Amino acid sequence: MRYYNTNNPTEFATLEQAVMQGRAHDGGLFMPEHIPQLPKAFINNMSMMTLQEISYAVANFALQGAVDSEMLKEIIDDTLNFEIPLVQVDDNRFALELYHGPTMSSKDVGARFMGRLLSYFATKHGQEVTVLVATTGNSGGAVANGCFNRPGVRVVVLYPQDGLDNLQEAQFTTLGGNVTAIEVNGSLEDCRNMILEAFADKDLKGHMALTSARSVNIARLVPQMFYYFYAIAQLQRQGRSLDQVVISLPCGNLGNLTAGIMAKRMGLPLKRFIAADNANDVFTRYLRTGKFEPKSMTVTLAKAIDVGNPRNFPRILDLFGGSHEAIAREVAGVSMSDSEIHDSMKRLWIDRRYLADPHGALALEALGRLLHPGETGVALATAHPAKYIDAVEDALEQSIPVPNAMLQYLRGTRNVVSMNSGYASLRRFLLSGK
Ligand SMILES: *Cc1c(COP(=O)(O)O)cnc(C)c1O
Repeated sequence: MRYYNTNNPTEFATLEQAVMQGRAHDGGLFMPEHIPQLPKAFINNMSMMTLQEISYAVANFALQGAVDSEMLKEIIDDTLNFEIPLVQVDDNRFALELYHGPTMSSKDVGARFMGRLLSYFATKHGQEVTVLVATTGNSGGAVANGCFNRPGVRVVVLYPQDGLDNLQEAQFTTLGGNVTAIEVNGSLEDCRNMILEAFADKDLKGHMALTSARSVNIARLVPQMFYYFYAIAQLQRQGRSLDQVVISLPCGNLGNLTAGIMAKRMGLPLKRFIAADNANDVFTRYLRTGKFEPKSMTVTLAKAIDVGNPRNFPRILDLFGGSHEAIAREVAGVSMSDSEIHDSMKRLWIDRRYLADPHGALALEALGRLLHPGETGVALATAHPAKYIDAVEDALEQSIPVPNAMLQYLRGTRNVVSMNSGYASLRRFLLSGK
């Protein structure tokens, strides 16, 4: 299997190159040259299989031998050491709870797989790879934990001084070991620019292998397909009909949507998708108008999807041959204000006794509005409610429990490097070999 560059489809990379580089040299994204079809018999038998078994089969098929299969099995068993339950919310709505991993967001799945795959490729050649990531939220914690203690991998997380709440920060500042947290005296934009400069620095790259941990890395995209298969397996187990399944998801950089569409192309029976935006409605606007117009982002209650320029958009376009009409036929969209998100959390709790975070509530509410009679809706619940405790408690008008695993991070020792914004200090730090 080869991976082409979305900016230049005649240029190809191997899986290893795509994973180790993150993005193509000109900023393009890597996409599989073709998407293999899984045999029907496999889909029909999924109800008898575990999450790990299903994921291993899907990965083996998708990666077509690029990773030794024993090793792939180990990587998958190790990545998915937590459950991804499908919880019924009412007659035709289900929540796929993706937040039972170590940092309690859906990003754990992709980040843990990426950390292990990077380690596999790096140690194979006796190399070390440095993962750079800028974060104001879930990705920093997920990537740091996903790469923590992985041989051959070093992680540097940059974050803006005033950008994060304590818990999110603690998930990567208290690890130590091969994880360095750098608090930048500047904005998220400054952090991102510092990283972009590092990637453009040819001299630095002569000293070390650098990769991007953003959701554009194909190593995060492949595992995001697993949970769609597992959702269908769980519906099968419950004896639900599979010909009318609709997936609803909170859209940020569109990684989950891309992976869902790829899962469907592999043969998973998914009828259509519902893309739910908050006030950052660049993608749902595109669905309506055919115009893709990035804008500056607005802060909302569903912070993890406060994105003004959804990075995986070129992949979605490619999957549909650039046709807006084809995309709009398979993906419906809805965007909601903070007060609508607040009300959906409240109603889900009062009417259904279902505790949802702002992102999960957004996706469930989108199903409530756009599901047709006879369809079964699966909403991606992408974060643990306690991760957005202020918004949730405000909506429920009562306090909610915080899991012990989460408090554990807050008790850890904080270990942080402070730095001025500007590339010179990052460069100096990276070259110092710390
Ligand atoms: C990252 C994230 C999303 C968005 O996922 P994309 O694949 O980037 O669209 C949604 N919800 C939460 C909680 C997230 O952390």
